[in-house]
Amino acid sequence: MPKKRKSRGRHKGDKGKEGYVQCDRCGALVPRSKAVRVTVNSLPLDPQLISELRRQGAIIPRYTIVKNYCIRCAIHYRIIKIRPEEQRKVREPVARKNI
Ligand SMILES: [Zn+2]
Repeated sequence: MPKKRKSRGRHKGDKGKEGYVQCDRCGALVPRSKAVRVTVNSLPLDPQLISELRRQGAIIPRYTIVKNYCIRCAIHYRIIKIRPEEQRKVREPVARKNI
């Protein structure tokens, strides 16, 4: 049977069953390997204020925010894009837009 994608849209391989994660936009439960995971380093304050505080010797922590999206939300909010049919066969990771 022809397959649309070699990986069936996931990166599970032959691992068997795996856990679910909840989409951070719509709340849908999606398999962990199918979810689109985005990691963002965020700063708690305005960047101009941070550079001023750092010059005066303050230590400002960075926060890492990890978000999981279902495929529907990832495409709707343009985190990933639909690729043309020939490019879907390219196995290299596609650059993702940070949120
Ligand atoms: Zn979603």
